[in-house]
Amino acid sequence: PAPGALLLDVDKVRKQFGGLLAVNDVSFQIRAGEIVGLIGPNGAGKSTTFNLISGVLGLSRGAVSFRGQPVGGLSSREIARRGMSRTFQHVKMIADMTVLENVALGGYLRSRSGTLSAMLRLDRDEEKRLFAEAEAQLTRIGMQAQMHELAGNLALGPQRLMEIARALCTDPALLLLDEPAAGLRHKEKQALAEVLRQLKASGLSILLVEHDMEFVMGLTDRIVVMEFGTKLIEGTPEQVQASPEVRAAYLGT
Ligand code: ADP
Ligand code: MG
Repeated sequence: PAPGALLLDVDKVRKQFGGLLAVNDVSFQIRAGEIVGLIGPNGAGKSTTFNLISGVLGLSRGAVSFRGQPVGGLSSREIARRGMSRTFQHVKMIADMTVLENVALGGYLRSRSGTLSAMLRLDRDEEKRLFAEAEAQLTRIGMQAQMHELAGNLALGPQRLMEIARALCTDPALLLLDEPAAGLRHKEKQALAEVLRQLKASGLSILLVEHDMEFVMGLTDRIVVMEFGTKLIEGTPEQVQASPEVRAAYLGT
């Protein structure tokens, strides 16, 4: 997509869990080339919004369009196939497989209606292609030196990067990251931020759910703030930081 083109249109999306309105008519847009942050206190509805966008949860109301096409009601796999890829709040990996194997397997499971046993029956050419793609994405994010380590031996920072490499294997235009900086040390956060800046420079758009205010402020073009399931405010990092409502809701000051 051309820089600045409308990529994702979230239009008054709503999710009701029984009597709880977890997401209440939330709207925002993402343009090609942007990094947008979605922040808010715990329980604000950020992950649920993510799940609505990526097709993990069905919409109670509203609409989501990606590259001009409605994607509400499509499966998460179909949405991924159209160029939207996500990570989850908790790292999912097979600890006693290598980083490369984890990324290749993740790429495989995302890209088709595959199962692990089907992957084991792949022909050599297919397998080579998957591993080449995994290696290319690991190199893209600077993890070539750790490719052959066991995933379980990685620190949390590199594990998060491995998840991102996995999400990149389907060649997305939009990457959705759910709290990628949570629990990371300062140095690991800096390394992650550098990778995300580099991905943006290569034309990727990113929606980032994050709790860490400082991390989001330094990285995003625009921030959407949620509270109690609704959108409180949207603006540049500077506007959001200066907003008294945000300080009250988010920082408790
Ligand atoms: P956040 O990611 O901002 O911390 P969530 O989107 O996870 O918030 O949760 C928003 C609200 O919806 C919370 O009150 C949470 O308990 C509730 N919730 C989330 N998922 C479910 C679910 N599957 N069933 C019932 N309630 C849920
Ligand atoms: Mg969450």
